[in-house]
Amino acid sequence: MAESKPKPKIKKEAEPMPKQKPEVRRKNFNEVALGYSEEQAKTEANRCLQCPKPQCVTGCPVEISIPEFIKLLREGKYEEAAKKIKEKNSLPAVCGRVCPQEEQCQKFCILGKVGEPVSIGRLERWLADWERKRGNVKKPDDPPPTGKKVAVIGAGPAGLTAAADLAKLGHKAVIFEALHLPGGVLVYGIPEFRLPKSIVRAEADYVQSLGADLKLGYLIGRIHTIPELLKTGFDAVFIGTGAGLPAFLGVLGEHLGGIYSANEFLIRVNLMKAYAFPFYDTPIRIGKHVVVIGGGNVATDSARSALRLGAEEVCIVYRRSREEMPARKEEIENAEEEGILCKFLANPTRFIGDEKGWVKQMECICMELGPPDESGRRRPVPVKGSEFTMDVDTVVVAVGRTPNPIIQSTTEGLAVTKWGTIVADENGKTSIEGVYAGGDIVTGEATVISAMGAGKKAARAIHEYLMQEK
Ligand code: FAD
Ligand code: SF4
Repeated sequence: MAESKPKPKIKKEAEPMPKQKPEVRRKNFNEVALGYSEEQAKTEANRCLQCPKPQCVTGCPVEISIPEFIKLLREGKYEEAAKKIKEKNSLPAVCGRVCPQEEQCQKFCILGKVGEPVSIGRLERWLADWERKRGNVKKPDDPPPTGKKVAVIGAGPAGLTAAADLAKLGHKAVIFEALHLPGGVLVYGIPEFRLPKSIVRAEADYVQSLGADLKLGYLIGRIHTIPELLKTGFDAVFIGTGAGLPAFLGVLGEHLGGIYSANEFLIRVNLMKAYAFPFYDTPIRIGKHVVVIGGGNVATDSARSALRLGAEEVCIVYRRSREEMPARKEEIENAEEEGILCKFLANPTRFIGDEKGWVKQMECICMELGPPDESGRRRPVPVKGSEFTMDVDTVVVAVGRTPNPIIQSTTEGLAVTKWGTIVADENGKTSIEGVYAGGDIVTGEATVISAMGAGKKAARAIHEYLMQEK
């Protein structure tokens, strides 16, 4: 009998991500994760089994050909590997940093059954960084122009993806962005230590290099309305305006000084550079004891920003337990390493102020977990008589975000849900012909990659609509 060839042994553990040390990074806003070295990227790529029916691809909302780019990487064909990713994803350095890969592609990687899945996101990041640092980001050949013009409202991940894919199909995409910078939450929400602004800018520049125009400082609904855009030369519209309005707890004393919505807090820190006050005009109050309410990425980002701004103690107060925290696993671990405290199964019931109207204490109630609710997570239920108080100087409320109603209220005939999100089918088609929508404005707050997936699907549907019209 012929001897069977021994199978090569696959390393069960993924290559670890090099990071700034916790005691150093808690004092600066520089990026925490430093990225793989070339050798680490190759070692990690070599763990991929090159499955004939790869499950990872089914978990990627923008449909990247994952095994193919990994194969090119391990063969040292970096330029081709980066090109392979960009066939489907125009923001790879962003996705490689902030995608919840453990819930997406990596969740389906077959290696996850015996050890750690291939670190697909870190490889994507490494290739995107390699290409950008080389200073020669390749773009596909220009397609023949179709003569069709599409208005894209919002330059967040949904809008940038829709614009990139429309441009690649030969349409003229014009992005209208209300802020002075493209990126949406990527620039005004996610802090520099997780996603440097220069990277968002470089990938937005790439989208422009594909042929999309970017008009900054354009608040649609005020400067132009959607019906006006359709009357003045645009053949279709994509709405990717996100969910930028903060939600509040609705408890007594929430108006007190020193209590911020996470939106305001992160915009002050990120976009208006409050960490460099007085060199920049925007001040921020921090004090000794900071409490952040919530359990998602917004909460961990706010807590870690407060720590870097000099707080002595930062505590996340979350009404469920650690297992239910929706924040990225890696970022929860990073926050804990940096010394962020967590008080689980507790919820604020009121805030108590001093004589000058500044918050000084927060009253909470203990919670216990009941049966699962409609989200599938166990519902937190207050425990009677379990109230306690905490001393606080600053509170950041990070309990959710809802859509800004400006587009909905200025677009007659646009169907909207009771939560203010726009009604759209799985391809982004809304109740108005030629008007599509996707991202947080349709789903409510979700993830970067789901917004990008929606932008991609909508671009495909807009293309079909425009070509059919032709
Ligand atoms: P947005 O990113 O909100 O972009 C919408 C854009 O539209 C904005 O630039 C806005 O200025 C513009 N706009 C709005 N109204 C108008 C108008 N009327 N006219 C013109 N322009 C307009 N997701 C992850 O996957 N991983 C993470 O780690 C993560 N961390 C997060 C951290 C924070 C602090 C926050 C707030 C969110 C985080 N998310 C994360 C969620 C993710 O960022 C969002 O789901 C995603 O950005 C949604 O993309 P979008 O394009 O739909 O909307
Ligand atoms: Fe490679 Fe995992 Fe995808 Fe299989 S599932 S192709 S091992 S990344």
